[in-house]
Amino acid sequence: MSLAHIPGYPRIGAHRELKFALESFWRGDSNEQQLQELAASLRLRHWQSQADAGLDLVTVGDFAYYDHVLQTLALLGAIPERFGFDPASLNLQQYSELARGNNQQFAMEMTKWFDTNYHYLVPEWSQHTRFDGGTDWLFDEVSQAQAAGFQPKIVLLGPLSLLALGKVKSGLSHALELLPPLLSAYQGILQRLQQQGVTWVQIDEPVLSLDLDAAYLAQFLPCYQALSLHAPKILLASYFGDVSQHLDLLQSLPVAGVHLDLVRGAHLTTDVLANWPAPQVLSLGVVDGRNIWRTDLRRALHKLQPVHAALGERCWISSSCSLLHVPVDLDSETRLDSELKNWLAFANQKITEIQTLRLALDQGEAAVAAQLAASDQAVQSRQNSKRIHNPLVQKRLQAIAAKDTQRHSGFSERIRAQQEKWQLPLFPTTTIGSFPQTPAIRQTRAAYKRAEISHLDYLEKMRAEISLVVSKQEELGLDVLVHGEPERNDMVEYFGEQLWGYGFTDFGWVQSYGSRCVKPPFIYGDVYRPEAMTVSWSAYAQSLTDKPMKGMLTGPVTMLQWSFVRDDQPREVTARQIALALRDEVCDLEQAGIGMIQIDEPAFREGLPLRQQDWAHYLDWAVQAFQLCAAGVRDTTQIHTHMCYSEFNDILPWIAAMDADVITIETSRSDMELLDGFSSFSYPNDIGPGVYDIHSPRVPKPEEIARLLGKARSVIPDARLWVNPDCGLKTRQWQETELALANMVAAARQLRLLAEQDQQASATVDAVAQPV
Ligand code: GLN
Ligand code: ZN
Repeated sequence: MSLAHIPGYPRIGAHRELKFALESFWRGDSNEQQLQELAASLRLRHWQSQADAGLDLVTVGDFAYYDHVLQTLALLGAIPERFGFDPASLNLQQYSELARGNNQQFAMEMTKWFDTNYHYLVPEWSQHTRFDGGTDWLFDEVSQAQAAGFQPKIVLLGPLSLLALGKVKSGLSHALELLPPLLSAYQGILQRLQQQGVTWVQIDEPVLSLDLDAAYLAQFLPCYQALSLHAPKILLASYFGDVSQHLDLLQSLPVAGVHLDLVRGAHLTTDVLANWPAPQVLSLGVVDGRNIWRTDLRRALHKLQPVHAALGERCWISSSCSLLHVPVDLDSETRLDSELKNWLAFANQKITEIQTLRLALDQGEAAVAAQLAASDQAVQSRQNSKRIHNPLVQKRLQAIAAKDTQRHSGFSERIRAQQEKWQLPLFPTTTIGSFPQTPAIRQTRAAYKRAEISHLDYLEKMRAEISLVVSKQEELGLDVLVHGEPERNDMVEYFGEQLWGYGFTDFGWVQSYGSRCVKPPFIYGDVYRPEAMTVSWSAYAQSLTDKPMKGMLTGPVTMLQWSFVRDDQPREVTARQIALALRDEVCDLEQAGIGMIQIDEPAFREGLPLRQQDWAHYLDWAVQAFQLCAAGVRDTTQIHTHMCYSEFNDILPWIAAMDADVITIETSRSDMELLDGFSSFSYPNDIGPGVYDIHSPRVPKPEEIARLLGKARSVIPDARLWVNPDCGLKTRQWQETELALANMVAAARQLRLLAEQDQQASATVDAVAQPV
């Protein structure tokens, strides 16, 4: 018999129970014991779902009160020393403070978990880091599962991934210096699990899907030799990438099994899999753990059958990665259109698919004939549905020509024309788009959505808000205005709801970090814009002022990156479809008299593949998609873009290739670190490095802003430099927003005076230097 399991299950709960319990605990409305009880009941439910579906092992250790990396640190006792907590007696209050900060200490840094939208807390390594043992939570969870009659497989984040995902803070020249004590700690944990009667431990080493440095690779063999000595059986799990270059290494490790992601590693041949050397078990991750599409069971089966025939019991069936990245249960979606629903599978449906595949392998296809037939039917329906293929879109895609991705003139000519038209001062001031979203605005939107207020009432309230935002910006003296985005709940959902090809769920929540969840839409069909999406709002806003009003759109990569995407065509094709829809919107805005249009791409960097060898291809199509949106306008129309919260220095040439007339970019939190990149690469177009962090209510003083701008001036020519906050202001209160923007405008004005003086001074120098 082959065996069915999953690398992990979503921890947040089908109705976000963990989120609400955490937030109640943080508010002080509930105590530690109540939070623990809720957690225990969720775990029990999740194990029960796995057992009910027929999985042989339930996964224990995938639960976390905030994040599984932090949970691992708590288990090891390796929490940052700066907090002064005793690792052996760490409680949930302290655990939360590690994640969220307290009065004395900043929170631990958070960053994206590989190329997913999940964020983990970054371990802090130093010469003081100890692995002397921490909480007993994991061992208690094992006992809980056993007491409830489940057969647990424990999941642990592997030591090499843990070290590689952390940051060396001090006193070490390399994180690997911590490996010896870390390994003893893992040995201790494994022994304890063995004493508890655990037979299988899954150890995750997702770093194998990165460009891993040789020093780490060299440690795999000795490390797993040490771990497998006195331990339960180890299943080494890799996921998120194709690990074909590490196959020899994986097969040489003294572990009882290896898990492979066969969605990302789809081209691993049957030959390689069927010849997997004994005695290792091979766990085949064929069900997509990161997307919400129903598996084509017939196709998966055909892939598995020869491998199963060769490996027999050594062939395990699984999802590609933990199901953490998909919502819990499609059955909750009672309002979803039945045709669309039939194409989808969330975590609970995916575990059933895994079980079906296992049964088909063990007992023959006849044993699951009904499930296979239903899967075939769904596959066919999805292939043939009119909702997937739109001939109009196909035709336009085919007609895209090189000229469609190029502005009429080069930047220097365009900017001259734009400057002539707008007559903006030096260091123009602007904002990124959204203004504070007050409870009143949210209530109005919600009431309109529930059809409790009429369309005209809604328009009136929103227009009143826009008019308020416009007049405040005029009072503040900003140079380029925005309408404030009151009509938008979310920058992706707002557009998705107006585009054909996008679907939405009611409960499709996925954990982003801690208690924060997102509900990504899904793109199922050719994306098509039936009518203008933003024009009436922007045109109204422009009618209120003589200052330029920026139109505001979400770019194609961000639309893609923050949605579940089609798996029946390459991402780049979907990106081009979205780009065509946005191109029409850009042209319509121009037609309506909007002369500046910002196309936000905050997720541009996020889309980068894990391996550098794949970067060029991604960057090429991503840049092209942006150009396709932007290039249909006249020279005098100024295209802006905005990016935030990632490292940009390594992709500056591509950002430049997007050829936006102006880019506003986050950089204040890193004290303009971004600008380092500009010493080696001079960005050719206009740029507004964010001068204050909008994630804090703190009002920056004019001097601070002026200091940052001074730094910026050292690498960006005055004529190219804009002044703006880091990102949109929607999470801020009005009071701090007005104060901060007033200071920003003051700093820009101060700078203009300075620049004038500089100019006069250099004119004098020139005059003096003239030979008589
Ligand atoms: N225009 C958006 C806003 O201002 C941009 C948000 C973002 O970059 N995430 O809210
Ligand atoms: Zn932003």
